[in-house]
Amino acid sequence: MIVMKFGGSSVANAERIKHVASIITAYADKKPVVVLSAMGDTTDHLLEAADWAVEGDVDIKKIEDLHLATAKTLGIDDTVVRELLGELKTLLTGISMLRELTKRTRDYLVSFGERLSVRMMAQYLKKEGLGARFYDAWDIGFVSDSRFMSAELLEEVWDNIPEALNDYKYGVQKEIPIVTGFIAKDKNGYITTLGRGGSDLSATMIGAAMGADEVQTWKDVDGILTADPRIVKEARTVPVVTYEEASELAYFGAQVLHPRSMIPCKKTGTMVRVKNSYNIDFPGSIIIDEHKEKPSLVRSISTVKNVTLIDIISTRMLGASGFMAHIFTIFLKWDISIDVIATSEVSISLTVNSDEDLTGLLEDLQGVAQTHLEPNKAIVALICDADHSSKIIAEGFEALAKADINPDIISQGASQVNISMVCDLESVNEVVQILHKTYFGNKAGDELQ
Ligand code: ASP
Ligand code: MG
Repeated sequence: MIVMKFGGSSVANAERIKHVASIITAYADKKPVVVLSAMGDTTDHLLEAADWAVEGDVDIKKIEDLHLATAKTLGIDDTVVRELLGELKTLLTGISMLRELTKRTRDYLVSFGERLSVRMMAQYLKKEGLGARFYDAWDIGFVSDSRFMSAELLEEVWDNIPEALNDYKYGVQKEIPIVTGFIAKDKNGYITTLGRGGSDLSATMIGAAMGADEVQTWKDVDGILTADPRIVKEARTVPVVTYEEASELAYFGAQVLHPRSMIPCKKTGTMVRVKNSYNIDFPGSIIIDEHKEKPSLVRSISTVKNVTLIDIISTRMLGASGFMAHIFTIFLKWDISIDVIATSEVSISLTVNSDEDLTGLLEDLQGVAQTHLEPNKAIVALICDADHSSKIIAEGFEALAKADINPDIISQGASQVNISMVCDLESVNEVVQILHKTYFGNKAGDELQ
């Protein structure tokens, strides 16, 4: 048994759905459980429709047009699609009358995207002669807490999922399950979502709970790459990364997988494979517990571009104890997450996402420290074997020194797989290009371990 997950862009239109259907067909003998996201940008369009409804307008034209046109091109009966679109319109009308949108209602609303796509895919596969059956995640036991918009799955899903899918695994049920990613229900029966990009977690959860041979997440690039190919055209596939490295990559901006999605597979050791839907025979990247062969020093370089650097300098006595505790309490109070950090006895340099509203935080900090803000910064993260940090830093920084680039912060996480630096947004692409050339040689076709 395997799990195959296809994200929004893989099912963005009828052509792509047909293509995905052909991939599922090619893997039919491996007993796939298929997990789908909403078509294309449907989740964004649903959120947009919600905002309009709060303003009093009910408009689902984009969503309606896309799904009805797709159903038509696929030649499938659109009754179920129309039913769901009708329910969606009723919900939006309710919101437009109340002029109010709770997180709970928002989750109910965005769930329509995934619910539409699994119904269409199952129907299309059936039309093509492949037995398939759609499931809303709760039909196979996805229960979560009630933290709407970023719900956590409950322990019992480990038992619920096999209970629902063992008949398929052991051949009693023949139809291929097509399951909604991203959504669940809480104990009260309210629909929840697992956070943006959460379909990855749905897929790895099913794979881990079912003891699948592997969980495949299908993208339109050749797996996990050494760098963003839009920045480095010589970027290559990284054949093997560990769960830990994959999580760090996800946190540091690489659009590979949802950061939390490694957790279930890490527990069971279930292999995750990142594959290219336009290059089906290519093995892609695998994500496993440990490297079996000695890997390259640096696995991948990723960037986070929307970053503000804050320098915080204590106005108190040198070395006063409790300084850090005080500062972090203020960050906690304003719920602002810190990404990269470097400290000395009396000062802290750290980065936060530039979208954060820092007004309250800065006011509170004024009492204990001088602060200095620098927007337009970027993080460059080296996912690497930090046991060899000296070598990695020496090589990389020699190259950066030649270009007269001097990072603001350098930080090595306790995870041992990440060395991060902060530099000007303006020079970040150049930094990545220089580092890529240093660590990977920029020769296309080189074998990478
Ligand atoms: N459709 C959801 C989103 O766009 C979940 C996903 O794609 O994984 O965030
Ligand atoms: Mg999506």
